[in-house]
Amino acid sequence: MKKILFVTSEVYPLIKTGGLADVSNSLPKSLADTGQDVKIILPNYRALKLTRNVQLRSVFKIGSHSVQLLETQLPDSNVTVWLVDCPEYFGMAGNPYVDSAGHSYANNPERFALFCRAVIEVAMNRADLDWKADVVHCNDWQTGLIPALLSLENELCPKTVFTIHNMAYQGFFNGLTAARLQLPIELLSSDGLEFYGGISFIKGGIAYADKITTVSPTYAHDIQTPELGYGLEGLLIYRNDDLTGIINGIDDDWNPETDMLIPKRFNVNSFQDKSINKTALQTRLNLPIDGNVLVLSLISRLVEQKGIDMLLDCLPDLLSLPVQIVILGSGEKSFEHGLQQLAAVYPDKMALTLGYDEALAHLIEAGADVFLMPSRFEPCGLNQMYSQRYGTLPVVRKTGGLTDTVVDTLPDTLANRTATGFVFSEENAGALLETIKRALLLYGFPEAWKQVQTNAMNCDFSWKRSAAQYLELYENID
Ligand code: ADP
Repeated sequence: MKKILFVTSEVYPLIKTGGLADVSNSLPKSLADTGQDVKIILPNYRALKLTRNVQLRSVFKIGSHSVQLLETQLPDSNVTVWLVDCPEYFGMAGNPYVDSAGHSYANNPERFALFCRAVIEVAMNRADLDWKADVVHCNDWQTGLIPALLSLENELCPKTVFTIHNMAYQGFFNGLTAARLQLPIELLSSDGLEFYGGISFIKGGIAYADKITTVSPTYAHDIQTPELGYGLEGLLIYRNDDLTGIINGIDDDWNPETDMLIPKRFNVNSFQDKSINKTALQTRLNLPIDGNVLVLSLISRLVEQKGIDMLLDCLPDLLSLPVQIVILGSGEKSFEHGLQQLAAVYPDKMALTLGYDEALAHLIEAGADVFLMPSRFEPCGLNQMYSQRYGTLPVVRKTGGLTDTVVDTLPDTLANRTATGFVFSEENAGALLETIKRALLLYGFPEAWKQVQTNAMNCDFSWKRSAAQYLELYENID
């Protein structure tokens, strides 16, 4: 049994701004299910939604700040959650990272440096908890100083794993900030935290952790290139032997056999029930009810990363084909307007819902035939995995986690029953359109379509599988 301290800046359902919160819920629970002793630690933001009992476990000092360590449990589990309480840093009401105007809090470096220093005290068993970690698993830049600071501790210090969920967020701060944080001088060299005359928190994780992971094998490769390495590709290449990609699992909430948010539950043996959801989707979105038309879908943040511009460019041609398209998302205003204009011109073919709607997302996954994910880059991606579980074949660009989780439909993959979707490489609207046409062609062959749906629905994207890979990694750190 390993004692694992899982360090994160957000955990669902306590607080969530993105996919990190979901991973921070599911992975510790899955590790605990294998018998590991896992504790989650995160800042005690005022905005946390706490539903279980909270106890004070210890009080200690970090510099001039008094820190309280609180203990609670993750809802629906026995996993312990430790909260680093320091009201002057975490007592604001809203989002953990940005103010109501969307600007990063000016004292973010101080906030997360204090969090990291508090985690060191816990990890080293100096916080009066009678618990010493074997492995400290850090996530994203907010935790990047931890491997760096632990490197200055004695030989009894725990092993460290640093996971990159998105290389685009780095925690870079200028030299003046670096001075304010009073970090040990040994850490500030160009082999350490220094980056372009300032400091980079994420670099601390990458330079000092015993093992580095990211959320898919292909993204582990992608971040070693100038396009997606954001200036740290050289260091990542240097650390290549210690860098691996482990695909995220998907949650049990996304299971068509048990999904309470869809009108008709179904599985791989009851495809006809999927068509009931298709009718419900068309009805709900005021599209003509037609069981035979190919229904394309997209649920996404409407931002450039997700290739929304490519979709916009090919939509006029796409809408001349015998298809319907349903889109759910919110994001950049220019994309929202572009989509609104087209939806107004083609009300019989295109249904656009702007906003965030969990229940509609489930209905779309259950009712659509094809899911579009033309991302420019994608560390892991979840929707392409949800789609496969619901027999909704994904059309994806060959990047990051999409490469690792979708098998293109080709003569050989059809024959050996591994095909699960449609994949294209080039980053342009023409390639996306051609690939959708391939899907449309296959849809005309119901037996072949059903076979690919079956292959997709039988894929194992469980957290159990991913957790086993993390455990193997923890066990093999020398
Ligand atoms: P990312 O984390 O980069 O946004 P992912 O595919 O990894 O992309 O995860 C996106 C998650 O957010 C999925 O669960 C998806 O269903 C959900 N989602 C995105 N936009 C919406 C929306 N407008 N309404 C409901 N769910 C959404």
